[in-house]
Amino acid sequence: MLVHERLCAEYGAPFRFFSVKDPLSELISALLSHRTRNQDSHRAYQQLRAHFSSWDAVRDAPTAEVQEAISACTWPEQKAPRIQHVLREVSQRCGGPCDLAFLAEMPIPEARAWLEQLPGVGPKTSAATLLFSSLRLPAMPVDSHHHRVAQRLALIGPKVDEKLAHKLLAELLPPAWDAQQVYDHHEALMFHGQKCCYFHTPACGRCVVLNLCPFGQAQVTGDR
Ligand code: SF4
Repeated sequence: MLVHERLCAEYGAPFRFFSVKDPLSELISALLSHRTRNQDSHRAYQQLRAHFSSWDAVRDAPTAEVQEAISACTWPEQKAPRIQHVLREVSQRCGGPCDLAFLAEMPIPEARAWLEQLPGVGPKTSAATLLFSSLRLPAMPVDSHHHRVAQRLALIGPKVDEKLAHKLLAELLPPAWDAQQVYDHHEALMFHGQKCCYFHTPACGRCVVLNLCPFGQAQVTGDR
C-alpha cells in the first residue's frame, strides 16, 4: 500500500502507543473525549480516577458526584449518567465487577459488536478500546482527519460516512497486519489530516501522496 508506506515514512512510523490503559479504562476515557479537547478530557479522566477507587465505585456513586469529578470535559451532565449506564451494563452482562479483559479471548468482530451494544459506543470507540488499550488488538478507528484523507485519496467514496468508513477501510487492510501496523496506518493518516491535508485548504503542493490523490490532482491543475 503506497499511501501507507509514504505517510508512515513522512511522519516517522512506527509510532509509540500513547496509552497503557486496561480496556474498560480506555473505553471510559474515549467516552469522556467525545467532542472535547484532549487536555480537557485527560483532566476529567484523571480527576475521575483520583476521586473514585474503582469503576465499580463510579458505577454506584451518586450521579452528581461523578458529574462533578468530570466537570473539566464538555457536557458532564450528559456524560456522567452515560458512563454509569455503561458501567451498569458491563457488570450486568459480565455478571461481576466491571472489567473488559475477557474481550481478548473474542474474535475482533464479536468484541466490537459486544462493545457497540453499550450506550453511546459506536465503531470508532469500539475500535479505539481494542487497539489503544492494553489489549492491543488490530481494530482500526477512523477519526475525522483519517476519514477526510481517505475520501480525498478515493480510498472510500465522497458520500461514505464515518460509520461505514470503518467497515470499508478495514476491508482494505492486509488481513495479516498486527496491531502496530494498524495503529501506524491510523496515526499516519490522522497526522496527514492534521499537518497537510487540512479541511479548508489542503497543502497539496507539498503532499507526499499527491500523485496518488485524485482530489489533490484536481486542486493543483485547477479543476476544483
Ligand atoms: S494531495 Fe492534497 S487532498 Fe490529496 S492527500 Fe495530499 S493534501 Fe490531501
